[in-house]
Amino acid sequence: MLITKNIELVRRERWADPGQTWGFVPTMGALHEGHLSLVRCARAENSRVAASIYVNPTQFAPTEDLDAYPRQLERDLELLRAEGVDLVFTPSDTEMYPPGFQTYVSVENVTRVLEGASRPTHFRGVATVVAKLFNIVQPTRAYFGQKDAQQTVVIRQMVRDLNFPVDVIVCPIVREPDGLAMSSRNQYLHGETRTAATVLYRALMAVQSAFEHGERNAETLRALMRDTIAAEKLARLDYVSVANPDTLQELDTIADSALCSLAVFFGKTRLIDNIILEESE
Ligand code: AMP
Repeated sequence: MLITKNIELVRRERWADPGQTWGFVPTMGALHEGHLSLVRCARAENSRVAASIYVNPTQFAPTEDLDAYPRQLERDLELLRAEGVDLVFTPSDTEMYPPGFQTYVSVENVTRVLEGASRPTHFRGVATVVAKLFNIVQPTRAYFGQKDAQQTVVIRQMVRDLNFPVDVIVCPIVREPDGLAMSSRNQYLHGETRTAATVLYRALMAVQSAFEHGERNAETLRALMRDTIAAEKLARLDYVSVANPDTLQELDTIADSALCSLAVFFGKTRLIDNIILEESE
């Protein structure tokens, strides 16, 4: 497994044999089974696999957890090695954002709502770093988790609009046995807060059950999520949404599918989760 901070070395390895297909998994490290599920997908569908580990400063607001974000490079590299990854790109901030850097990718409508409304500079940072990583690694396919549902919409839009020659593949959410979606930020949760964090999944399950019993009114489903979160005293709701999965616009009525998502604070820790509701055939 080649581990490098060097952009030229990544490119050289990528094109050493142009006949290979490359699957690419961008991450911020502190890897868990959610990340590894993406690596396994990439491993199954490509002859070579690359991952990146980079805590991208431009997607954090000054008030957010950039400095506290968990970093455990040696352990991450062992996990990637065990999955048969061929190349790991671990750039420094000066490699990615050298002095004088001044070009950003700004995806418009789909970044204004949900996470983008709560974190106004977040997706500019995400789109910029992913565009750079795509240009550096030049993968055949890139793998993202449904956990960050809006991120997958933003990346797909960017790939379409800027003609990146990359197939974007979205993999399902991996959860803890009690339903909590795996996240590097779960490391911030302890004791009763960790127990309380299952309320996101409980809210989504309540919505799914109502949908299966015929509820199609989006506001009723949003209210159900709000009430479930309100009943958990350690939780503070940021937003709930029942939206069109492609445009991310809020729905009045669910016609065929909906992305139900929510963001909830536990102290300073902010968790997100979602499910897709779909009319069965
Ligand atoms: P991050 O390191 O948080 O930037 O995540 C890197 C990639 O892993 C993103 O595409 C995430 O959506 C994905 N990911 C994170 N958590 C999960 C999860 N629980 N299940 C599936 N994918 C995940």
